[in-house]
Amino acid sequence: MLTEMTVRPKVPSMPDDHAVRRVPSRTKIVATIGPASESADMVRSLILAGVNVFRFNFSHGKFEEHERRLQTVREVSSSLGLCIACLGDLPGPKIRVGHVEGKIELTVGVDVVFDPSIDTARVETTDGITCVHLPTTYDRIAHDAKPGQRVLLADGALRMLAVERDGQKLVCRVTVGGPISSGKGINLPESEVSAPGITPRDWECVEFAVGQGLDYLALSFVRSPDEVRELQDRLWTMCSASKENADSDGGSKIKVIAKIEKPQAVARIDDIVEVADGIMVARGDLGVEMDIASVPVAQKRIIDACKKRGKPVIVATQMLETMIENPMPTRAEASDVANALFDGAGALMLSGETAVGNHPDLVVETMTRIIEATEDRLKEIGASYRGPTEVAEGHTMTAALTTGAWHAAGACDARAIACWSENGGTARYLSQMGFHIPILVCSTNERATRRMALLPGITPVVATPPESGRLSDWNDWAEAHLREIGWAEDGDWVVLLAGKPLGQSKRTNTMALHRIGDEQAGYAGH
Ligand code: PGA
Ligand code: MN
Repeated sequence: MLTEMTVRPKVPSMPDDHAVRRVPSRTKIVATIGPASESADMVRSLILAGVNVFRFNFSHGKFEEHERRLQTVREVSSSLGLCIACLGDLPGPKIRVGHVEGKIELTVGVDVVFDPSIDTARVETTDGITCVHLPTTYDRIAHDAKPGQRVLLADGALRMLAVERDGQKLVCRVTVGGPISSGKGINLPESEVSAPGITPRDWECVEFAVGQGLDYLALSFVRSPDEVRELQDRLWTMCSASKENADSDGGSKIKVIAKIEKPQAVARIDDIVEVADGIMVARGDLGVEMDIASVPVAQKRIIDACKKRGKPVIVATQMLETMIENPMPTRAEASDVANALFDGAGALMLSGETAVGNHPDLVVETMTRIIEATEDRLKEIGASYRGPTEVAEGHTMTAALTTGAWHAAGACDARAIACWSENGGTARYLSQMGFHIPILVCSTNERATRRMALLPGITPVVATPPESGRLSDWNDWAEAHLREIGWAEDGDWVVLLAGKPLGQSKRTNTMALHRIGDEQAGYAGH
């Protein structure tokens, strides 16, 4: 009975001031935290508007700043009783322009010299010919870029051609001009960049992420699965050294998201998806590194590869870009958000929109509204059975049970699923099935519930098993809770998945169908 439940678990019910209780969207929202969104009030508004994961962009800001923001996210999410994941985004071997005093206008035909040995930009005019000297963070630029190859600045807004190498200096001629300022990115789409995939700065960020107990790390400019494995191996070693960070099976608790932003990565997408814990379609750099005309098709191919292997996939960059300034998105942006869902994306990301934009909360609200309208249509069309396709070793039973849950839920037109998934394994399989009914997942493990926040369709909750250890008592709790949060009412069917003892990993072995309000617990006799 409910009254016998010992500690009442923290529940993901909407807080009192949230007028309408509703079933959460299946699609997850990743929001970049920045100067525009770091206050506790704003973090709270963003979470209530639908953010599931905060992204800490290590390309900007100091560690103290990230630490402060992380603290805020943790405090606010725990006061709301909601599980929110934190993702650290590693800068990777991104080449940047060094310091520029104010802005310099680069005009077509002008020569630009990239010089790693200077600290600040300068403009020289000799015999009426102007030459702009720009510092760069990459001292092998003249080694990697060959004359005739393209050099693109500021996400491709400015373009030039390499014309000559002069020791460590690279001379280029501007073909598309514009203003240039400090820190802008430099892409060498036609060059073989010899910088290591994971830079010394990245390793510092990894160290910070492990120390702070982040949930995900995103690896930029991945070229091959080896780089993903290298980071996973290092995390494994670093994390298993500390009890706080070690999985019950000794592994790394920090999962790795591979950012697909180079054509080499698109070409090897299946191999990368196989090793990564998740994928990000990083359209900003991808649109510079490859022909922008092919990016929409690349997005679909990448998402398909993820669906095939049941890996979470985040579509990122410029989703609601004009809302950095404006209170309304363009029609094209609204369509882009919806179409990412039709492609099969499970998560969408906001970058500048929430980090530095004028109205971060309005952006998230807008994204949520588009997601809801789109998911209504997807439900109407009907969910199609999708998985589990690749069953990992030792997961045969989980896969069989979640497949069973799919058929049982369909046959009974179930309203919701409740499951106990201590480490998130069962949650991962349920998530990849593509259910259009909400899935409540209980675990005693707070880290595991935070990781699950990224999984589409999953609502994680930190819970305590009933003292009796009986599945039927957990069944009673789940029933009461599903009613309370408005996911199910008398007469509705729900699917329950758990195993004994509750609170331990790799135990899920039982599936039950339960009708809300029925005397008989789903787990009769357990
Ligand atoms: P970034 O990654 O914002 O770290 O560059 C996303 C992208 O390139 O789209
Ligand atoms: Mn990028």
